Amino acid sequence: VPSAYEIAQCQFKIASERLDLSEEACEVLSEPMFECTVRVPVRMDDGNTKVFTGFRVQHNSARGPCKGGLRFHPEDDLETTRALAAWMTWKTAVVGIPLGGGKGGMRVNTKELSDAEKERLCRGYMRAVGRVLGPEIDVPAPDVYTTAQMMGWMVDEYEAQIGRREPGVITGKPVGIGGSKGRSIATALGAVFAIREAAKDIGVDLKGAKVAIQGYGNGGSNAHCLLQSMMDCKVVALSDSSGAIYNGDGIDYDKAYPHKQETGKLDGLEGTDTMSNEELLELDVDILIPAALSGVLTEENANKVKANLVAEIANGPTTPEADDILHENGVYVIPDLLCNAGGVTVSYFEMIQNACHDRWSEDQVRERLDTVMTEAYRELHSRVQKDKVNPRMAAFLIALERVFAACRERGWISSGDA
Ligand code: GLU
Repeated sequence: VPSAYEIAQCQFKIASERLDLSEEACEVLSEPMFECTVRVPVRMDDGNTKVFTGFRVQHNSARGPCKGGLRFHPEDDLETTRALAAWMTWKTAVVGIPLGGGKGGMRVNTKELSDAEKERLCRGYMRAVGRVLGPEIDVPAPDVYTTAQMMGWMVDEYEAQIGRREPGVITGKPVGIGGSKGRSIATALGAVFAIREAAKDIGVDLKGAKVAIQGYGNGGSNAHCLLQSMMDCKVVALSDSSGAIYNGDGIDYDKAYPHKQETGKLDGLEGTDTMSNEELLELDVDILIPAALSGVLTEENANKVKANLVAEIANGPTTPEADDILHENGVYVIPDLLCNAGGVTVSYFEMIQNACHDRWSEDQVRERLDTVMTEAYRELHSRVQKDKVNPRMAAFLIALERVFAACRERGWISSGDA
């Protein structure tokens, strides 16, 4: 299976060739403008110090300050962070918000840490990278295995360093210290809006539509909740890192979520059968939602996908080979660059509120998110039809054009080409 970095590079190459971008432009756009690796000593509960490795990558800031989450994962590395940072540059361009792309992370298994150790880790990370962050420079947020509470510790550490309040340095904070209402469900809500629009175009009736969701973190679990409550979908399969569960009559969010909270896994939920993550991807459902990690739909299994619609809540779940197969088989893929952009869009709303000392109601957030997602989806879909390309390619074409234009307007790329 190709790595996130290989997937991102390959996608960029295909799209840049189609746009006939110059070598100079590709050189500017394909690699990050800034990256750093930090070693963070953390005092563990047993009194010993352990050193953790962390990263922050700023891919491109031509359209605005870099923006993107922090991932805490045992396999995290600089290359993965680079790929995820580049995807943020393209993602913010696809939904047209004035931000660039960044990403960060730490190589750590948070499941092995106590809350106090997690807090010291977060504060240590902020001490190490704070100097390259700021509301007009680069703004982190939650991602895989990071939470609102962690963002709270980090903003506190940053503000202690600079000696004043600066809530806009990080988003996805708890609401009481400058977080935005609606941010915690934003990634899933944005995906639901995109699914609603795509379902109209490809003729899927969402009421009673069968859904399988791979991954039960922030994106996957909230998608379960919202698809059930807002769209009347029937979510028949769920999974987390411990395996998948299935019930053809539907799995109730109000049973699954508390079970996951209490036991730490989905496995063992009453009234469900167990299956593997692999089997879940190949289920006979209307909508398949990869909401975990990258590289899960590959040339090995793409032919076995029976869903009509794939909605990518994860970053980079589909390899370029799988993309071609799915497209040939008539599966409509709502690409991550659009489908999961609700998170960063409400992060952008949070930055606006922080800059203006304002606070918006949840309805206001939902309404504006709907507008951003629906308009971006419509633009993407007309590009699909106009250029006769798959939705991923359309997303890349839109993104590369916008970022390319901004780089040229800044004089980073000469104006003779493309
Ligand atoms: N981590 C999320 C993403 O991959 C959100 C980023 C943000 O809010 O800045 O899009």
